[in-house]
Amino acid sequence: MRIFDAHAHYNDAAFPPEELDSVLKNAFSSGVTHIINAGTDIETSKESIALAGEYAEIYAAVGIYPHECIKIADKNATLDELRSLLKHDKVVSLGEIGLDYHYDDTPKEMQKEFFDAQLSIAEELGIPVEIHDREAHGDTLDILKAHKNARGLMHSYSGSYETAKELIGIGFIISISGPVTFKNARQSVEVAERIPLEFMAVETDSPYLSPVPKRGTRNDSSNLVYTVGKIAELRNVAPEVIAETTRKNALTLFGIKE
Ligand SMILES: [Zn+2]
Repeated sequence: MRIFDAHAHYNDAAFPPEELDSVLKNAFSSGVTHIINAGTDIETSKESIALAGEYAEIYAAVGIYPHECIKIADKNATLDELRSLLKHDKVVSLGEIGLDYHYDDTPKEMQKEFFDAQLSIAEELGIPVEIHDREAHGDTLDILKAHKNARGLMHSYSGSYETAKELIGIGFIISISGPVTFKNARQSVEVAERIPLEFMAVETDSPYLSPVPKRGTRNDSSNLVYTVGKIAELRNVAPEVIAETTRKNALTLFGIKE
C-alpha cells in the first residue's frame, strides 16, 4: 500500500535529530511515498525547506500559522520573505495558514488579516494552500469564498459534512486525520463516510493526533495505515483503494509528478 501524508511537522521538538532519520525511513518502508512538511512561521518554514532538501519523499509548505501572527513585528517584511521562500523548488504549498479561535492569544482581526493576505499571495502565485481551521468554521468559509482562485487542502478537517460539501464546491479537498479513529468521533466519521473519494486526502499532523491504537503517543507517518484502515472500513472498500485514491488526489493538488 502506498500512502501520501498530506500534512506533518517533522521539525517539531518531539523528533530529536538523532531519531528523525530512522522515524522517516521506517515510514517510507511502510509505504509512505510523500510527506508535506508544514511550517508555522518563517523559521520553521525554512527548516521545512531544509528537511525537504534532505529527503526525496518530503515536500515543504511554508506559511504563518494563526497564533504566530502576534509575534510578527513587520507584517510586510514577513510576507515578502514568505514570497521568496515560495519560489523554492520543493515548496508545493502555502501553509499552514488559517484561523484558530480555540485559544484567544491572537486577536481574531489580526488572524483574519494575515489569513487574507496569505490567500492573496497564493492566488497570485497559483499555489495551493493548507488550511488550519479550529473552531472558526464560519469565518474560514467566508474568507475562502472571498478568494475565488484559492484552492487547497483543509488540514485535519473537523467541521460538518455540510460545510465539507461547500468547501469541495469552491476548490478544496478534505484531509482526514487520526481523530476519525477515536471512539467519540461523530462529525469526522460522517465526513469520511460521505464525501466523494476524489476530494479526500489523508494526513498524520505528526507529531500530533495519533490514531487508535497509537492514540496518546508521538505520531509519525507510518501510523497512517490505521487512519486509512478506518476510512476503508467506514466506506466498505479495500484500504488500498483509499490509500491510492487519496495519494493521487494529493499528487494532483500539489502538482507533484512521480
Ligand atoms: Zn499542522
